[in-house]
Amino acid sequence: MTNLRFEAVAEASRKKPLEVATPAERPSEFFGKKVFNRQKMYKYLPADIYAKLVDVIDNGARLDRSIANEVAKGMKQWADDNEVTHYTHWFQPLTEGTAEKHDAFIEHDGKGGMIEEFSGKLLAQQEPDASSFPSGGIRNTFEARGYSAWDPTSPVFIMDDTLCIPTIFISYTGEALDYKAPLLRALRAVSTAASEVCHYFDPEVKKVTSNLGWEQEYFLVDENLYAARPDLMLTGRTLMGHDSAKNQQMDDHYFGTIPERVQNFMKDLEIQALELGIPCKTRHNEVAPNQFELAPIFEETNLAVDHNMLLMSLMKKIAHKHGFRVLLHEKPFDGINGSGKHNNWSLSTDTGVLLHGPGKTPIDNLRFVVFIVETLVGVYRHNGLLKASIMSATNAHRLGANEAPPAIISSFLGKQLSDLLEHIEKSDKKDLFDVAGKKGVKLDIPEIPEIIIDNTDRNRTSPFAFTGNRFEFRAVGSEANCASAMIVLNTAVAEALTDFKKRVDALIAKGEDKIAAIIDIVREDIVASKPIHFDGNGYSDEWVVEAAKRGLDCEKSCPVIFERYLDKDSIKMFEDMNVMQENELEARNEVKWETYTKKIQIEARVMGDLSMNHIIPVATHYQSQLAKNVENMITIFGKEKGTTLSSRNMKIIEEIATRTKKIEAGVEDLVNARKVANKIESEYDKAIAYHDTVEPKMEEIRYEIDKLELVVADELWTLPKYRELLFIR
Ligand code: ADP
Ligand code: MG
Repeated sequence: MTNLRFEAVAEASRKKPLEVATPAERPSEFFGKKVFNRQKMYKYLPADIYAKLVDVIDNGARLDRSIANEVAKGMKQWADDNEVTHYTHWFQPLTEGTAEKHDAFIEHDGKGGMIEEFSGKLLAQQEPDASSFPSGGIRNTFEARGYSAWDPTSPVFIMDDTLCIPTIFISYTGEALDYKAPLLRALRAVSTAASEVCHYFDPEVKKVTSNLGWEQEYFLVDENLYAARPDLMLTGRTLMGHDSAKNQQMDDHYFGTIPERVQNFMKDLEIQALELGIPCKTRHNEVAPNQFELAPIFEETNLAVDHNMLLMSLMKKIAHKHGFRVLLHEKPFDGINGSGKHNNWSLSTDTGVLLHGPGKTPIDNLRFVVFIVETLVGVYRHNGLLKASIMSATNAHRLGANEAPPAIISSFLGKQLSDLLEHIEKSDKKDLFDVAGKKGVKLDIPEIPEIIIDNTDRNRTSPFAFTGNRFEFRAVGSEANCASAMIVLNTAVAEALTDFKKRVDALIAKGEDKIAAIIDIVREDIVASKPIHFDGNGYSDEWVVEAAKRGLDCEKSCPVIFERYLDKDSIKMFEDMNVMQENELEARNEVKWETYTKKIQIEARVMGDLSMNHIIPVATHYQSQLAKNVENMITIFGKEKGTTLSSRNMKIIEEIATRTKKIEAGVEDLVNARKVANKIESEYDKAIAYHDTVEPKMEEIRYEIDKLELVVADELWTLPKYRELLFIR
């Protein structure tokens, strides 16, 4: 009997690293080669059009229809020079991933022929036939079609032979059907709110930028082995598989030498990413075997989100070329670290100030404290919602699973910053600040030593950690669209800053000095946001008890957590900040629940299929071999002696019988639980049923299968084992 597993293992072991030519140019020379960046705009656009477009990009000026035609013309010329034949509006629907529909640059000329054309109209707006993208019913209730509209703040780029135009995707009545539209609104909100707070310190600030530097973790698995694992192919994770005798306990993979096949994949990926303008900087092995990480330098959030989406699709393509599959699932292997996407986030001004970085003077430090504390206020007020923004059926395996960030949002500040906040809170106000002093204003806000920027005391268990000049949101899932977390975070901070300013202004209006008023309110908020501040071990059991006492959101059920989007406070926040309206939030939640259900449903089906078609047949096949052997032994030695000599085999025969029976019964239960759940009308209730009644049954079945893997003869087992998936490369 041929066994696909052994063929796959043999194929995989034979693979040689794929040579990747080193480009003749230096990285700084080919960086952005495939991007219609300013350099190219300058070259391909008339001077006045260039100036107008830059004004749109930098200052949010209105996009004048007349310039769209000229820009399209320039883009088309650039595309021609690069042998590009198609174009597409590239957008981010509510499914994870990106969507595109390619059109050739040809139009009817009205005389029975074809002309090559790309007009401003085609650049600015399209109507993809996208009725199958999830919309949570928005397009049914409002208007049947959605359209995509050009986002000039994220540059057009070339993938293969196609010009890709980043766009938002909205319904005709204006509701967002994607991630980008609300993200852009959230970024505008935080820019406005933060600029106004900055004016207390510097009236020249015109704009505040939200920065995002993501770190992308992923696994690589040999393509042949992947193909022999239907669960990996269909669900992105292994639904079964016993621990490998060796996995990550030696910590010998982390920062170790990168295997050559992988190294070549990374080199290829980096070259192509750099050409697309993604500023890749670091790459290394992660904790788990066959797990790796890639991180670029941080960028403006909208662009960083696009670049992450682009990188994820690029990774899949290039991995394939090198005979790998990339796994972006948050938890592809049980018992081994999962993958996340740390989101390093900060705000900075157009005057060059990093608002989450400590300053050199007491007044700069006061501004720093304001931005830190108001971030904490936003995160505290909306901690449940923030968790909802990163929750998914797949990330649920990671959150709270005792290795990754817990399913409770808290913030680590470190000793220096905690001391500083305590100093401000506890000091007597006249010691902190004295206007009557001889030298005018005296401000006792001690300087923070540079050293904290070196991340000296890092806390890896904190989901939202301060790391010197930014916060690092570590709970984001590896396959998620970063925009989901960034929408909530930036909106929550925008709201906190708006509220802060209102209260400071009220004190000023009553005659209080500006700095005194800022100190008053910031002290109030240091106290108010205390419950979110936690520097201890986020994985400990005591923290769960403590967090509940503090009133932090401790819910673990994924579909229940999604409800946080519809809390009164959440709706108010999104509406006040002009990011989303209630009907949009409702629609998006329908999509979340439906997606959750579908994911679990697919897993349950695959679990059933594999149990019945792989596991039980293989186990019973082995059982028959053993039974035959017992029979032979009795023939040779007689009943008594033959039975005694076969006792081990007889025990295994029995174990296989018991376990396969349990698996069969488990699969039947699983099917029944699904039948009941599928009849439920409401998406919410259905998702809850899948979570409460379907998902746990898969764990029970898996337990029996993993035990069988240990007793069944290795040569019969058809699914590649953990040790093969994790160590062959
Ligand atoms: P780590 O030690 O966590 O791997 P790195 O120094 O590699 O951290 O940085 C991780 C990411 O954080 C990078 O994308 C980096 O550009 C980004 N980053 C650094 N400073 C900031 C900042 N002030 N705001 C946002 N992102 C930042
Ligand atoms: Mg990090």
